[in-house]
Amino acid sequence: MEIKLLTIKEDILGANEAKARMNRERLNKYSIVAINIMSSPGAGKTSLIIQTINKLKPTTRIAVIEGDVASQVDAEKVHQQGVPIIQINIPGGCHLDANMIENALNDLPLEDLDLLLIENVGNLICPAEFDLGEHKKVILASTPEGDDKPDKYPLMFSEADVVLVTKCDLMPYMDFQFDNFFRGIARVNPAVGIFQVSCKTGEGIEQWFDWLLNQMKDSKAHPPP
Ligand code: MG
Ligand code: ZN
Repeated sequence: MEIKLLTIKEDILGANEAKARMNRERLNKYSIVAINIMSSPGAGKTSLIIQTINKLKPTTRIAVIEGDVASQVDAEKVHQQGVPIIQINIPGGCHLDANMIENALNDLPLEDLDLLLIENVGNLICPAEFDLGEHKKVILASTPEGDDKPDKYPLMFSEADVVLVTKCDLMPYMDFQFDNFFRGIARVNPAVGIFQVSCKTGEGIEQWFDWLLNQMKDSKAHPPP
């Protein structure tokens, strides 16, 4: 029985990877950089997306895909920023997959985009297993969650291309030890970039903008075949 279950899971992930490759090739054709943003609920994914739109909108054509179990609360906030947005609700689901992204891409004006921000479902477990066809994975960890998240969710943090520690303005009130956090990350992903940011005060957020702009510059300079 156990072996059978394992096989099913591998089939699901195998089919997902094939679809993710197709999504990535499609995005590459339009030179769109896609970023998969993951975290637990409430870590600040939507706030980061709104700040990013505010900053980059004058120079960058951005669209957003919002994944949520229910509601359009986040999508409505992002929609007010005046960028194309696709809401994906997954009742009873806990992650986005490549199929959902393919459907969303069908409804986005791909020829008019530079950057696609994908807000995954708030969950530190299975989103890490599903390639969406994105180019980079970004993990947020907020200071109120504590500094032990990399130890507790090693797969998620091992997959990250960059880690943002969010809500750094709350540091004085939180028992968050950066040393512990850095040690946890170093065990699973020693080379990953870590930015300390606050969307509220704007502290550290320029590093994130610079990183994003560099991703887009790289993709224009070295277009994938
Ligand atoms: Mg959100
Ligand atoms: Zn899931």
